[in-house]
Amino acid sequence: MALELEINPIKHWLPQINNPLIIAGPCSLETEEQAMDTAKQLAKDHRVFVYRGGVWKPRTRPGSFEGIGSIGLKWLQMVREETGMPVGTEVANAQHAEEALKAGLDVLWIGARSTASPFVVQEIADVVRGTDAVVMVKNPVNPDVQLWVGAFERLSQAGIKNLVAIHRGFTPFRETEYRNYPNWKTVIELRRIMPNLPIICDPSHIGGKREYLYDISQKAFDMGMEGLMIESHRDPSCALSDKEQQLTPTDLAKLLDRLIIRNVKT
Ligand code: PEP
Ligand code: MN
Repeated sequence: MALELEINPIKHWLPQINNPLIIAGPCSLETEEQAMDTAKQLAKDHRVFVYRGGVWKPRTRPGSFEGIGSIGLKWLQMVREETGMPVGTEVANAQHAEEALKAGLDVLWIGARSTASPFVVQEIADVVRGTDAVVMVKNPVNPDVQLWVGAFERLSQAGIKNLVAIHRGFTPFRETEYRNYPNWKTVIELRRIMPNLPIICDPSHIGGKREYLYDISQKAFDMGMEGLMIESHRDPSCALSDKEQQLTPTDLAKLLDRLIIRNVKT
């Protein structure tokens, strides 16, 4: 059964958007210089519409880089001032959401590990309630469409209408070439349940390696998905997280040149 959630189309919250919605930026913000330099390069490509930068990084195991923290919000503000791009980051609890909103971020997204936790989603929904922030929700790490749908219901019940789904693949249950396996049937299922919800694809976390980004991105467009969230770093070889899947802004432009974009219904 389809759900009658009130959801604004992407065009409503980003009125000047050109199809499709391309969100790009580093997995993690590392220094002010890295954040700004990457953003300035990306802003030259007018196809990139939103700048992403991870500030709080929920890593699977402790001991790796867990994000630069709140200082990164200031860099995102600077990126917006300098480039005019809307900016966004991942929020993994109510305090992150409060800080991100206070810093005036345009987009908050709930990461795959957090979507799997209804209390966390509810906490974030309660903080965002009454604002016009855009909230994007990645699929949960486990292939449970109901958890993903439940997150949208919670946000919708909090009056949040600027919603977008991000397919980033599911934890593989066996050896795969990709880091996370995409389940395109899930995308079709989500579209059936919430027909007016924009759905974009995160080929970076599905593929886990640069060489897979093209095929995954093309598949997303072939399925009529409305955009991509893709990781881009000025120098991926030095990235503190996800170095194998990030593209330089130049390589991102080349990738976008090659893609045949069809059926985008923003
Ligand atoms: C990210 O976007 O950098 C990230 C950690 O993604 P995910 O929640 O999809 O693992
Ligand atoms: Mn990442």
